[in-house]
Amino acid sequence: MLKKPVYHCSQCKKILPELEELLFVEEGSQRGFCSESCIEKYFAPLIDHYEQQEKKIRKKLGINDEPCMKYVGQQSYMESTLARPGQIWRLENELKEEIFCFIGEFKEKETQYQNTFYLLIICSVFDHRPSFIFAVTATKDTRILKEYQIGEPVTDPKSFVKSPNPEELALPSDIHPEALSLLEMKKSQVLAAQLEKRSMADIPFEQFNLYDSFFETTLMDPDEIYRIKDQDGDVLLTYIKAHNQGDTSFYYYVLMLKLDSRYYQGSDKTGDKEVLLPVLSFPSVDAQMAELYRQGDLLTGVTKN
Ligand SMILES: [Zn+2]
Repeated sequence: MLKKPVYHCSQCKKILPELEELLFVEEGSQRGFCSESCIEKYFAPLIDHYEQQEKKIRKKLGINDEPCMKYVGQQSYMESTLARPGQIWRLENELKEEIFCFIGEFKEKETQYQNTFYLLIICSVFDHRPSFIFAVTATKDTRILKEYQIGEPVTDPKSFVKSPNPEELALPSDIHPEALSLLEMKKSQVLAAQLEKRSMADIPFEQFNLYDSFFETTLMDPDEIYRIKDQDGDVLLTYIKAHNQGDTSFYYYVLMLKLDSRYYQGSDKTGDKEVLLPVLSFPSVDAQMAELYRQGDLLTGVTKN
């Protein structure tokens, strides 16, 4: 038994037999964790550090509260900044540990003066995606913005970030462009319904990318598939699979849209094949979320391929 290598959680030191059970949040780092909660515990002092730094900066400039801080944590702004940042700054210490600041620039519609605000997210990056968020703030003050432009700017920030959704990689090339707008519409509908049902105790969306590797296994080997017709008459398939990662048991969901055959561009190529496009995929630890998605007809005897 001694000859079998083992791994351990950097926080609780629990021994793990397989590398796959470790979660990593920093590129090129050997710090692995057994669970989300160990990641949070490990980095808690750094979260405090960044909070203190922000307080100092704001105190120095005499800008303690800004109305635009209400956008901090709002999903659409957060996602937009993490997936399509306007700027990324990267600061490295002498141990080659790096920290990033993702900056999103937005306009407030209602405001007459100085309506541009910046969302500033300090995070680590793993596999070209933001992985752990240390601090978030928002400001209209360019002096605060400058304080967050840490280290060196990353050139071409939008292509630096890998697509946040694994489903985007799976798009067939021969579908009609209109299908993409349909897909976008379904995505926002489904996401809105999901957000309404989400529990605060569930896995935070900024950690969804840590679960990307479960997309494929859920789709290829689901425990359950449900087929439902939505209010527009479109057919959605929900793939559900229970997984374990470290101490956590969770469900992974993949929602697929069954595309109407009029959306195929080269129908000769697709033939009678069913075209399914991924609408949404996410992990959840919430049993009530499972009830929400266990709707429609349970498909049994589905060919798994
Ligand atoms: Zn641990």
